Amino acid sequence: MPEKLLEVMELKKYFPVKSFLSRSREYVKAVDGIDFYIRKGETLGLVGESGCGKSTTGRTIVRLLEPTGGKVIFEGEDIITYDRKKLKNVWNKMQLIFQDPFASLNPRLTVGDALEEVLYVHNVKDHGERYKKAVELLEMVGLSSNYLTRFPHEFSGGQRQRIVIARALAVNPKLVICDEPVSALDVSIQAQVINLLEELQKELNLTYLFISHDLRVVKHISNRIAVMYLGKIVETAPSDEIFNNPAHPYSHALISAIPTVDLGTSGEKILLEGDVPSPVNPPTGCRFHTRCNYKKDICSQIEPEQKDLGGEHYVACHLY
Ligand code: SF4
Repeated sequence: MPEKLLEVMELKKYFPVKSFLSRSREYVKAVDGIDFYIRKGETLGLVGESGCGKSTTGRTIVRLLEPTGGKVIFEGEDIITYDRKKLKNVWNKMQLIFQDPFASLNPRLTVGDALEEVLYVHNVKDHGERYKKAVELLEMVGLSSNYLTRFPHEFSGGQRQRIVIARALAVNPKLVICDEPVSALDVSIQAQVINLLEELQKELNLTYLFISHDLRVVKHISNRIAVMYLGKIVETAPSDEIFNNPAHPYSHALISAIPTVDLGTSGEKILLEGDVPSPVNPPTGCRFHTRCNYKKDICSQIEPEQKDLGGEHYVACHLY
């Protein structure tokens, strides 16, 4: 099995919130002690409802947000301990792709300037070399070099996301964190961008953390999937395993709600009752107990630990 490129251990990210009623300081526990790893060349899908902490996880790994606690082991070293200077070298190897490609691109820069800017910052000082590399990058993502002189508003959403991917690849990253990269695109365009990401992964031996609320998309691209609920990872397993044998009641409900007929599920939909509780005061014990149809007395009292079901399948639930 390939070695681990990234290992996240007990990662936490809390945001302070002001409360006029309470004197004590309160925190939104967006990410509250999560563990997972990604092997070289694989894709780990991170799924969950909106607000569960998955985007915060991606931003905390690359330290766009400073973690509250935990470790992020990248290529064998804990980058949480790195100062800004050392972090710059890590950022060459880790790139983030966001949901909205229009917001990610400077409207005043042509595509060529946007690509050359990144190359310049990463020490490609010769203009001729930068131009050649910019042409190569555009061609790599299926766009013509004629587009180098155009501005972001002249492109469709799918083309803009291709440009964002080209810019991410400019620094030869090893890990790409894709945060809802196709959610803003039409379904037909989504498939094209996902196929492009898969082709680039094979060609460049990239490793992906693919964050999405859309299980259909995640199933298509991921080798393994981690399911997140209210700041915690509740289940991790190989993609086929989690779709055929979901162990956690929350994963089961999410999968049953996918509007397709070809996933091998019984077709019975499990409706989740109630809203996701507040991450400021999450439920005690298992955080899912307020919405779980299988809860037992212990569930509201003791937080379940991750249990190893074998074959890289882990679940945090008192049923096991
Ligand atoms: Fe449901 Fe209990 Fe399992 Fe939580 S620990 S998912 S409440 S059965």
